[in-house]
This record gives sequence, structure tokens and C-alpha cells, in this order.
Amino acid sequence: MENSKVLFEKSLEKIPGGVNSPVRAFGSVGGSPLFIKSANADHIYDVDGNEFIDYVCSWGPGILGHAHPQVIEAVKKACVDGLTFGAPTKKELELAELITDAMPSIEKVRLVNSGTEATMSAIRTARGYTGRDMIIKFRGNYHGHSDGLLVKAGSAALTTAVPDSAGVPASYTQNTLVAEYNNEDSVRELMEQYGENVAAIIVEPVAANMGVVPPKEGFLKFLRDITLKYGTVLIFDEVITGFRLKFGGAQEYFGVKPDMTTLGKIVGGGMPIAAYGGKKEIMDRVSPTGPVYQAGTLSGNPIATTAGIETLKILKAHPEYYKQIDESAKKLADAYRKMAKEKNIPLHVNQIGSLLSAFQTGEVVDDYDSALTSDTNAYTEYFWKMLDNGIYVAPAQFEAMFVSVAHTKEDIERTCEVISL
Ligand code: PMP
Repeated sequence: MENSKVLFEKSLEKIPGGVNSPVRAFGSVGGSPLFIKSANADHIYDVDGNEFIDYVCSWGPGILGHAHPQVIEAVKKACVDGLTFGAPTKKELELAELITDAMPSIEKVRLVNSGTEATMSAIRTARGYTGRDMIIKFRGNYHGHSDGLLVKAGSAALTTAVPDSAGVPASYTQNTLVAEYNNEDSVRELMEQYGENVAAIIVEPVAANMGVVPPKEGFLKFLRDITLKYGTVLIFDEVITGFRLKFGGAQEYFGVKPDMTTLGKIVGGGMPIAAYGGKKEIMDRVSPTGPVYQAGTLSGNPIATTAGIETLKILKAHPEYYKQIDESAKKLADAYRKMAKEKNIPLHVNQIGSLLSAFQTGEVVDDYDSALTSDTNAYTEYFWKMLDNGIYVAPAQFEAMFVSVAHTKEDIERTCEVISL
């Protein structure tokens, strides 16, 4: 991996940490990251000519695999017509229609450029709509890097939060309350105390940023009920789960309808698009209809919308894809469990749809604390074993493994063999 190493050394001089997003630096597995040259279907190629079966899938967008010919063809064509206009296009309408069709809880939707923008704007809108300041988020849930959401997952869970990043004044997060994921009591207590002032509860319906942790039976329904009781906006952050768990996202999977939804990753088909949307009466608070300001020079970009539209059209036309990726993920989960049993290794595997995580712990992982019992040194060993055998998984324990439509039966089998080593 000589070329990767040289590029990383040089990048370290010009880019903080050598990367444009921290997890890419391989920091938690102690090594030098692969520099990627290209990718096709379920395979990714580094600058040293190595080939890997890819389960990072660009952290979620790659549900069809890399460089799907139909998406690439459409993007190429769109480029010829101009890269950006800063004026409305038919494509924005087309993508909005695909989104609102897929998720009926979204009556109106605004396109933005990243998941961070989507959640930040959704929260501003919920505050503008309710006239309240406080929000509740869950420990271990990630909603991007806007100031008010970068909140320390402190041990005193039911207290007002303090910032989790240098550079965020405490005053920016004083209205962010932190509850425990999968713990109804923690939410109930906060709502009993602050409910009348809580504009929104934002939740990853399936937590996928502390490793994959599905919601306990009834947890999402409980959030729906308690938010209705207090007139609080329920926001599902479906940046990962949208168009992945089902075409209609986690809300279709669990049959719970939020007031607002944030989307990213798959909705842009590999290009920088994200979205926030919800009930008409809420979304009509957004500028220029309403007083909640939000804008973007490149929002609804014609190339990015093209990639999103093509990706969603393909997924919509192939409902069987969901069965396929879910079955592939299940095979992988079974392989992990079998290996752990045979080798007597403590391992807890969570799998839901095409998302999975193998936690290096003997405990059942159903919340943030249990996720943290994972042995990250054991993960590091596992990570390098996989990489040395041609399998690219997330270089960090607390991330999801993403399965795509492009993962062939043979590649899933090959992966299961490597898992068993
Ligand atoms: N919400 C969730 C659930 C996410 O997983 C992420 C990113 N992984 C974000 C928001 C932020 O999205 P972005 O990185 O596009 O800003």
C-alpha cells in the first residue's frame, strides 16, 4: 500500500489529519488509510492496484453498488446541459415527487446538500413552527455536525447537554436535551419537566452511528404518542435508513409516521444531496412562504438531482432488491454468529434489513452503554484481518456495515469465508 502511504503523508501536510472527514483517517484502527482510485459494483480499487469487496458503500449512499451504469449515463448527459443554474428545474420537482410518493408523511420537501444541513434546517423549522426552543436528541445518535446537535453524550443522561466539540459555545447547546436511546423513561422524565418547551424530538429510527442498534419494540410508537401529547414535532432522521430499510424508509418498516423526516445518502445517489420535509403546515413555515430562513446556492443541483432521481427510479422499479440485500445481510450476520460460537469469541450481532454491526462484546447491545462495552482492540484486529483478505469494512467499531444490491452471492460467500478465518 505504498502509494496510499505516500499520498497520506503528503495530504497530512495540506489537509487537517489528511482527510476531509475524520473517520476516513483510520485513526481508530491505527493505520494509514487506503486512497481509492475507483469503484465498480461491489468492488473498490485503491491506488496500489488492490481490490476489495466494499461494505462501506460510501457510508450508505451506495445501495446500488458503485457506478451503476444507468446512473452514470444519466449524470454524463446532465453534465452536458450545464452544471448549475441557481434557478428551479424540472428535476427538482421530479425528485420531490419521488420522495413524497415514497414517504407519505412528507407532504412538502426541501433539497439541501448534506445530512448536516437537513437536520439543522429541520430543527430550525420545528422551532419556527412551534415557537419553542428546546429539542431532545438521543445519546449516541448522530445528526451531523451543526453546533446545536454536537452534544456530549454525558453520563448524567437526563441533564442539559454540554458541547461535544471544541468551538461550540455552551450557549449553543443549552437547549439540547439528551435522552437515552431505547429508554422510554428517560424521554418521559424530560418531557414531564420540559415538554411544553420542547420543539422537537429528533431520533435515528434505527440507530446506526453507535453501530447498528434497532429500536426496541414499541419505542418509536412511544415517541409518536408522547410528541403528540405535548405538541412536539417528531423528526425521524432517515439519512441512513431512508430508501434502505424499505423504499419508504424506517417509517414504512415500523409503520410509525413522523411529522418531519430528514434524508441524505441514497436520496442523492452518490452526489451531495439531502432533504428535509414533512407536513405541509410545518414546511410552509420555510422561506419564502414562511419566516424560517434557509437557502443554498447549489441546492437542488441538476447533476445531483439526476443521480438521485435515477437511483430512486431503479429502487422503485425493483422492490425485490430489498429482499435480496436483507437476505445477504442476514447471511453475513449468521456467519459472524457461527464464527463467534465456534471460536468462543464474545460477539453480539445486530442486523436489520441491509444494515449490520458485529459488536465485540458478550453483552446484548440495545443502547449506547451496551454498545460501549465493545472491545475496540478486538475490532482493530478484525478490521485488518478483513482488509488483508480483500474485504473493506468500516475502520471503526461504531459504524454500520452496508450491504448493496451489487453484492453478488459469490462475494457474500467469499466474505463469509473470510469472517470464519
Ligand atoms: N444523520 C445521520 C443519521 C447520519 O448518519 C449522518 C452522517 N452519517 C448525518 C445525519 C449527517 O450527514 P452528512 O454527513 O451528509 O452531513
